[in-house]
Amino acid sequence: MILLYIIQISEVFISICSFGSMNNSMLLEAVKNFESPLYIYDSNKIKKQYERLISSFSAVKQLQINYAVKALSNISILKYIINLGSGIDAVSIQEVQLALKCGIKPTKIIYTPNGVSMNEMKKVSELGVKINIDNLSVLEDFGNKNPKIPICIRINPHIMAGGNSKISVGHIDSKFGISIHQIPHLLRIVENTKITVNGIHMHTGSDILDIDVFLRAAEILFEAAKNFNQLEFIDFGSGFKVPYFPNDSETNIEELGEKLSERFNEFCKNYGKDLILMFEPGKFLVSEAGKFLCKVNSIKQTTSTVFAQVDSGFNHFLRPMMYGASHHIENISNPNDIERYYSIVGYICETDTFASNRKISTINNGDILCFNNAGAYCHTMSSNYNSRYRPAEALHINDEIRLIRKREVFKDLIKNQIDIFNQ
Ligand SMILES: *Cc1c(COP(=O)(O)O)cnc(C)c1O
Repeated sequence: MILLYIIQISEVFISICSFGSMNNSMLLEAVKNFESPLYIYDSNKIKKQYERLISSFSAVKQLQINYAVKALSNISILKYIINLGSGIDAVSIQEVQLALKCGIKPTKIIYTPNGVSMNEMKKVSELGVKINIDNLSVLEDFGNKNPKIPICIRINPHIMAGGNSKISVGHIDSKFGISIHQIPHLLRIVENTKITVNGIHMHTGSDILDIDVFLRAAEILFEAAKNFNQLEFIDFGSGFKVPYFPNDSETNIEELGEKLSERFNEFCKNYGKDLILMFEPGKFLVSEAGKFLCKVNSIKQTTSTVFAQVDSGFNHFLRPMMYGASHHIENISNPNDIERYYSIVGYICETDTFASNRKISTINNGDILCFNNAGAYCHTMSSNYNSRYRPAEALHINDEIRLIRKREVFKDLIKNQIDIFNQ
């Protein structure tokens, strides 16, 4: 009897803990409640990815993941990720402020600006966050003014990596990082300004598939790190590729974890101190968690193409136009019909093609299309172009879909505009 009771209790416990992922009927229900277009993020997927990263590097004594806010910056998402134990990677003072508003300790934030004003850097340093500098003249200037503030150095390892020239940031012509060939100059500045270098960092780009490229860049970083004897952490940045389609390739995090952990531990042994291994993933944590839902306004058959036109455009979902990104699109309101070829386009008065010649289950007016991988660099890149409202956002958590950002309304469009003819 008691045993039965225990079994029942544990079943209840399991059903509380293991919430299912989002299915089509939940997504359709959410569109009914919150209207389209709508972004929905699955908290379970974010958690799974976070835990996957942690367990891949379990051989390392001290690991810190710093979520890159710029991928998806909604405060409910930030709080959720911070609660998992994550730190924060911020690229602007506003991202630092957002993270602080979400209750994180300043020491768990690393600020990695590029080309910002000295004034902003000073203000951020006063907030007590880690500062990452990627420019020798900025380092010299900042170091002279604030010799007591420890600094992390962003190294450019000159590795060509990344899925697209806009997101490949570690190559020779990149504006990011301090070249490994400038290390002697860097050391002179450190000596003259008497600053403490507490970390070494790299971030070579997004969508890196080949882990050998990653490991080669890591070796360069280890070489650079040997020049500094007060390090607390080594930050390997991010750039992991995630799958965009069923059976698409992705960075083998588990293999990378195994190989890099071993190499990192060996480095720490030689260095004589257990350093913190850091990563700052954006896309890896949130890309696959996101779905973008929009409604089909019309089907337009031309001489060569069938267009499905949705109630959105590159104002809401820029990646296909900006990076040539390909996102998997499903017709979730009519998923099992005959498949036909469609070009999915928006309502912006400019070319806004989301996908060309895609085989999708027959689309009718009013159908709801679901774009996958809509978590990273989607809502954060949305705009009011064509004077449209930015979409609402929702979070799937504890088996519920909750609104985390209201859809804009007309007032939002004009709130900062000044009508000089009506004063
Ligand atoms: C954008 C960015 C990241 C996150 O890159 P993902 O490809 O989204 O993982 C990490 N670090 C820095 C410095 C960045 O600018």
